[in-house]
Amino acid sequence: MKKRVFSGIRPTGRIHLGNYLGAVQNYVAMQDEFECVYCVVDIHALTTLEDTHLLQENIREQVIDLLAAGLDPSKCTLFVQSHVPEVTELFTLLGMATPLSWLLRVPTFKEKVKQQPQNVNYGLVGYPVLMTADIVLYKAEVVPVGEDQLPHLELAREIVRRFNDIFGETFPEPKGRLTSVPMVVGLDGRDKMSKSLNNHIELAATPEETMKKVMSAVTDPARMRRADPGHPEVCNIYKLHKTFTPSAVDEIAQGCRTASRGCVECKKELGNAINEYLAPLRARRAEIAKDQAYLDRVIKEGAEKARAIAKVTMVEVKRRMGLL
Ligand code: ADP
Repeated sequence: MKKRVFSGIRPTGRIHLGNYLGAVQNYVAMQDEFECVYCVVDIHALTTLEDTHLLQENIREQVIDLLAAGLDPSKCTLFVQSHVPEVTELFTLLGMATPLSWLLRVPTFKEKVKQQPQNVNYGLVGYPVLMTADIVLYKAEVVPVGEDQLPHLELAREIVRRFNDIFGETFPEPKGRLTSVPMVVGLDGRDKMSKSLNNHIELAATPEETMKKVMSAVTDPARMRRADPGHPEVCNIYKLHKTFTPSAVDEIAQGCRTASRGCVECKKELGNAINEYLAPLRARRAEIAKDQAYLDRVIKEGAEKARAIAKVTMVEVKRRMGLL
């Protein structure tokens, strides 16, 4: 039997290069080898989104992005988290097996408390429990994620171990699966690429928007003038070239170190390479977006398939916990 895979992506906007290179390219690659369950996790988005009027649109945009990136609904299950309400039931039940102290020490929770002191909600501290519920509801063994999610996944494993200890062997311990680019740095060159920091490039951006963003990116801060030799190893543009211009990276590094190549020229080349790489995906995206009935069908059928698995798990969980 194929191992089951689960992963989720928050509909806080359209998918960006960080999501794609860090996680989504693995979603696509794993479809043949595994039984894959992929989810647009709308409930998770509520922990940080105060303004929810864009949520429905974001969900559809993300489903379009995922399909355009290569997810095939005949090979995988693609659905929206809140359409399978069993997950919130499991979230409550797993909460009974999760010590609060584990959740309060999660670094991303502490960060969020600083970032949004006006909105430190109960859902925020429970985020890793809901993420665990997402994964174990499908008894997934492998979870393709970016590096930033590994601490959450470690906590999911601890929750699973504790649940299994108390109530008997029920869930497999999920393992993370990283891509070769598990942490894409944002265009500011400092933090991870992220929608909330606006240092990202969306897959659905136009070629012009993409070029504009790339041209605004930070390069080697020590290279003040065109004639200064650069240090490709600290330059984010160089890192992105490794993905998008793999055959020319040695030449690019050499040109940077000897200052025979300038940052403007280097960024232009990167912008062109990204646009070339994304052109087929963008064309598929435009086609899929035209067929809203198809999208409705994919989302509805995905929820039906996911729910059939979820119901079976919930009966087992309730039996083990003495609720049935
Ligand atoms: P975001 O961090 O943009 O809000 P999500 O939290 O929904 O996006 O992340 C969706 C997936 O994309 C996760 O597996 C996450 O680890 C991955 N991811 C997000 N940003 C990056 C990045 N800059 N580099 C690599 N992977 C990333």
